[in-house]
Amino acid sequence: NKQILLRDYITGFPKESDMVLKTGTIQLKVPKGSKSIVVKNLYLSCDPYMRIKMTKLDVSAYYFDSFTPGSTIVGFGVAKVLDSGHPDFKEGDLVWGTTGWEQYSLIQAPETLFKIMHTDVPLSYYTGLLGMPGLTAYAEFYEVCSPKKGEYVFVSAASGAVGQLVGQLAKLMGCYVVGSAGSKQKVDLLKEKLRFDDAFNYKEEQDFNAALKRYFPDGIDIYFDNVGGSMLDAVLLNMRLPGRIALCGMISQYNNLDKPEGIHNLLCLVTKRIRMEGFVVFDYYPIYPKFLELALQYIKEGKIVYLEDTIEGLENAPSALIRLLTGQNVGKQENREEDS
Ligand code: NDP
Repeated sequence: NKQILLRDYITGFPKESDMVLKTGTIQLKVPKGSKSIVVKNLYLSCDPYMRIKMTKLDVSAYYFDSFTPGSTIVGFGVAKVLDSGHPDFKEGDLVWGTTGWEQYSLIQAPETLFKIMHTDVPLSYYTGLLGMPGLTAYAEFYEVCSPKKGEYVFVSAASGAVGQLVGQLAKLMGCYVVGSAGSKQKVDLLKEKLRFDDAFNYKEEQDFNAALKRYFPDGIDIYFDNVGGSMLDAVLLNMRLPGRIALCGMISQYNNLDKPEGIHNLLCLVTKRIRMEGFVVFDYYPIYPKFLELALQYIKEGKIVYLEDTIEGLENAPSALIRLLTGQNVGKQENREEDS
């Protein structure tokens, strides 16, 4: 059983060598009397929060635990059941949810997994559009942003797993949507394929405040924040009254959690009566079936498209994660296992 282990806690930017490939053994049969399942992993998801878990965290401060150095990296994936001791799962079932960065996993609490019932879409979608990032986009946009037709919406990291869906949902709602991303290729995709009204390359902007004033001369109603840091600070100066800021993630800070960038413009929250709210997708798992039904319908009707960036082979999972953290991914970053 090939596995990817975290070597040790990381400070600063991760390197591929911080993750090591090991070969271990695994029983492909469930132990007698156990309600666990054994799965073959087909797709492994690379997600920004995995970098946070590579830092030694103060759990009481973050309510979020680190990975264990020397252990297999844990993450979302799509898998096939090989053997089951659980009454709700049988051999051949497809599932998505928390698994390991390894060929085969023994899953002790399979009731935390979602069974995949719709296979007329790419299976890989269950790491992205129809999985955790898709639910994040849907739940946070509708439940936290309270969008209304005609509102001005800004999305950062807009071409990524979450951002590309937020933009399209906002367009379907009748909003005006601008996205930021880190390359010309991504900006072109946002405008030409992902249906954003406009987009800009934040790496070419010296002054985010000036850039936002150019794209939103009348201000921003909703900011879907995927990056935090100086972009969030500049957005505060450009919000309308009463704006909403949905804090989804702060990827610009994940490599420097010991010294995060300061936010200076918080007074705008007071003067503009802005609601700024954090969000964790796990709280919204109960609405997953409702989301899935809508997303499948939108896919069928051609109302949403989804970009994926697939790297082959477990041994390349570390480089896939680094691609994501350096913005080389174009769309949802995932890792496909051989013969999946
Ligand atoms: P993406 O697919 O968007 O990949 C990450 C992207 O972030 C990169 O492609 C890159 O795009 C951008 N990025 C990397 N470094 C920086 C930086 N220093 N400054 C600005 N942008 C940067 O990832 P996801 O869509 O999966 O995740 C987006 C955000 O949502 C993350 O912050 C993540 O943690 C968060 N999230 C939160 C959840 C929750 O429950 N709260 C659940 C899921 C995701 P570019 O080329 O544009 O720079």
